[in-house]
Amino acid sequence: MAAIVQKYGGTSVGSVERLQAVAQRVAKTAEAGQPVVVVVSAMGKTTDTLVQLAADISSNPCRREMDMLLSTGEQVSIALLSLALQELGQPAISMTGAQVGIVTEAEHSRARILQIQTDRLQRHLQDGKVVVVAGFQGIAQGDDLEITTLGRGGSDTSAVALAAALNADRCEIYTDVPGILTTDPRLVPQARLMPEITCDEMLELASLGAKVLHPRAVEIARNYGVTLVVRSSWTDDPGTRVIAPPRQPRPLQGLELVHPVDAVEFDADQAKVALLRVPDRPGIAATLFAEIGRQQVDVDLIVQSIHEGNTNDIAFTVTKEMLTRAESVSQAVIPALTGPENTTDTDLLTDSQIAKVSIVGAGMIGRPGVAAKMFSALAAAGVNIQMISTSEVKVSCVVAAEDGDRAIASLCETFDVHPSTVREQEMMSAGGTQRPATPIVRGVALDRNQARLAILQVPDQAGRAAKIFQLLADKNISVDMIIQSQRCHIIGDCPTRDIAFTVAQTDAEAAQGLLKPLLTTLNCGDLRVNPAIAKVSIVGSGMIGQPGVAAKMFAALAMEGINIDTIATSEIKISCVLAEADGVKALQAIHKAFELGETEKLD
Ligand code: ADP
Ligand code: ASP
Ligand code: MG
Repeated sequence: MAAIVQKYGGTSVGSVERLQAVAQRVAKTAEAGQPVVVVVSAMGKTTDTLVQLAADISSNPCRREMDMLLSTGEQVSIALLSLALQELGQPAISMTGAQVGIVTEAEHSRARILQIQTDRLQRHLQDGKVVVVAGFQGIAQGDDLEITTLGRGGSDTSAVALAAALNADRCEIYTDVPGILTTDPRLVPQARLMPEITCDEMLELASLGAKVLHPRAVEIARNYGVTLVVRSSWTDDPGTRVIAPPRQPRPLQGLELVHPVDAVEFDADQAKVALLRVPDRPGIAATLFAEIGRQQVDVDLIVQSIHEGNTNDIAFTVTKEMLTRAESVSQAVIPALTGPENTTDTDLLTDSQIAKVSIVGAGMIGRPGVAAKMFSALAAAGVNIQMISTSEVKVSCVVAAEDGDRAIASLCETFDVHPSTVREQEMMSAGGTQRPATPIVRGVALDRNQARLAILQVPDQAGRAAKIFQLLADKNISVDMIIQSQRCHIIGDCPTRDIAFTVAQTDAEAAQGLLKPLLTTLNCGDLRVNPAIAKVSIVGSGMIGQPGVAAKMFAALAMEGINIDTIATSEIKISCVLAEADGVKALQAIHKAFELGETEKLD
């Protein structure tokens, strides 16, 4: 019989009573006859306490010793849970990551799993024992037997990886909430449970700050077709099912090192509208996109880069057929944006000779360098990038239509994607093909751990973006959202554009240090850093082909008087960067605007 993997998080094993309650649940499953592998986290806030102890001794503790320290937390809980099971008469044995043979790369504090040896584990299962495995840890490949950890929250990843390696029936993640909710219930008490969510949506939500699942766990579930459920360890309620595509016969070797990019997409049916120098104040994006939505124009990419003085640029793409309508609506709305006296300050540009090329893949999460590689490939093919917008699982670039074929060929070669599999993607207009009824917005997430950097006046030449992001990637700094502005300054004879991006707050200083010397070499302008930002995002596959979704999000922010710093979108998500102090208020307002909560139904 196929095994079942159950993972219990820190709060679920936070006390002796909780450990005993978990043991009861595990024993019940085992009694039903199914082999059970249990993955546990450290008890309660143990990991945080250990981190604090190290911080009291060193301001920059070495990552190897941190792994040595943090991995002890899980070792306590596996032994205690095993004892609790044995007390119930259930045979059980605890194993560390190294004892199981969870082999990882030799990257302390953020190791990826390469392979899991299952023979020892299987032997114990066959003997009728429950095997209790320490989450979040592994052993590095090589002779040094180095203990590694997978990164904070990584026990989810251990569990799903074990489920993939054992070809388990399912993986159940037990936690302190009833499942995956529309947003974090600690910030929005009205948050509602979702009975199900697709892996693609969950990948975005998890990477955008929904801490309930480690994004890499979702990535493995998606790649290996693991049946994944998130439930409360306090009740028997069914929780949330994370829907994975059917199980693929993939090799288990290099488990987390699969191709970072598994598809290249191309959309030739795109046209661009750009509004230059619109006022930088709350309500501008809302007014513009409300009118566009009202006219039934569906917008695909939206990019708003950082402000300059008191103005901003907003660019977006629509289908070619919609360009004329989008242009006239935008033209008509300009006086409402600028005030009737200042309309001449704002320019409206359109371009129907563009195409969008995208790379897609769950494997790019937290893997610095994939976007840089894309930009380098395009640069080497002599393709200039006009607009960039990224999501956690996709990087999209708008390029000149005539460069489309060259762009695709170079991306296929670079990422080893067969050209015959390039997906011709078409934006679906509102009147287009009916899609299955998925919620327009599935959930809302807030990420308060990011900083926004912007390099002004980057010469608009192929290869500049590549250089910038390669430099960060080489130092293992993950760039999250990348936005290239529409605004163009001619410096000397050279057109320039601003490039903004977000990184983890802890990486902001290092990124700044790395980029400073590059500014002169690349002839760029200033580097602007905003360390106190929040990113709020909506995610839902139902937003494809639905006019007005962005407008509703922007309107909710405008109603609260919240100014938007930058905007980036993909087909299934819209992210806005704003002041950190506005983060929670923004999350609550957006959650309410989309009527996601039990008591948030509007009239
Ligand atoms: P565990 O210790 O079980 O791994 P975590 O603290 O890592 O638990 O994750 C569960 C927490 O994630 C919840 O207590 C909740 O505050 C937070 N969370 C954030 N976003 C969501 C969401 N969309 N749905 C459910 N919980 C969320
Ligand atoms: N104990 C680790 C942490 O707190 C791993 C986990 O709980 O998933 O990050
Ligand atoms: Mg967790």
